[in-house]
Amino acid sequence: MPTRSASTRRDFLRWTASLGASAALAPFVAQPLLAQSLRPAELPRPRGLGGREPWGSLEPVGRDVWAMLSTPLADRTTLCNGGLIAGRDGVLMIEAFGGDAGARWMRERARALTRREPTQLLLTHYHADHTGGLTAAREAGAELWSTARTRDDVISRNQNAPVHLLGDALLVPEGGEHVLDLGGRRVRMIALEGHTASDLVAFVEDDGVVFAGDLIWFGMFPNFVDARPSRLTASVRRLRALNARVYVSGHGVTANAAGVDAFTDLLDLVERAARDAHARGVSAEAAGAAFRMPAGMADWTLFNPRYFERAIGAWMREISGS
Ligand SMILES: [Zn+2]
Repeated sequence: MPTRSASTRRDFLRWTASLGASAALAPFVAQPLLAQSLRPAELPRPRGLGGREPWGSLEPVGRDVWAMLSTPLADRTTLCNGGLIAGRDGVLMIEAFGGDAGARWMRERARALTRREPTQLLLTHYHADHTGGLTAAREAGAELWSTARTRDDVISRNQNAPVHLLGDALLVPEGGEHVLDLGGRRVRMIALEGHTASDLVAFVEDDGVVFAGDLIWFGMFPNFVDARPSRLTASVRRLRALNARVYVSGHGVTANAAGVDAFTDLLDLVERAARDAHARGVSAEAAGAAFRMPAGMADWTLFNPRYFERAIGAWMREISGS
């Protein structure tokens, strides 16, 4: 943790306590379903649906669709967002989460909510905070979905990757899509790019829910460490064109369509800052230090205070062709 993390973490905790209920964020956060629209099996139990844990909470975002909203600066058990999508014949778990304990907790929640283990597992991209729990996520036999690039990057770029669990991955073609039928429930798995060289999203079309992986962050400023910024922006615009009701971000809270518009504006603002810095010969470090979040996003938080610099630097590399 960087030295500034104490205040950042305190701010984040204050912010997550309201899970997007701050006045500034509220218009952009996808509203939870009304209890009346849920079937009895989905009604909140004494500990809540999935329960509020130190590492986050599992929230209903559709019919038999739950979003795991992690609070990674408080507790790193699950680390990223993800979720569960249930059909008559199977349950798809989105993400393997940051570690085995988080993945096992999600499987336990799947059993409690749907009375079955996840039968399928989707990796949105290779980063370790989304794939670190792969061993536990597959120990009940879930089939694995990813792209070839993501599978290869988990193997070649992550430490201690469970290589033996990746060989039988079912692959969605780069730039293409595959429809998974869970039984009365179709999930479109769409391969995009931009946060990394290969990003896979899940779209529950009948319920208007998108699991965007790290293509969309909401309430937390995105990590551009591997980003191709122009591709990222193009992918976010494609997701927006799906006109979904709920976008489950990779980190932060859920967004509605207006929230995705605001996120796109933020990405465009970063691009303008980078183009301006490039034109004036200013370093990414200086431009990052001068970058200010737009009005209405002042309460967004950062994993790391250098994320503005990293984002502007990624754009400047792309602009200069290096
Ligand atoms: Zn990532």
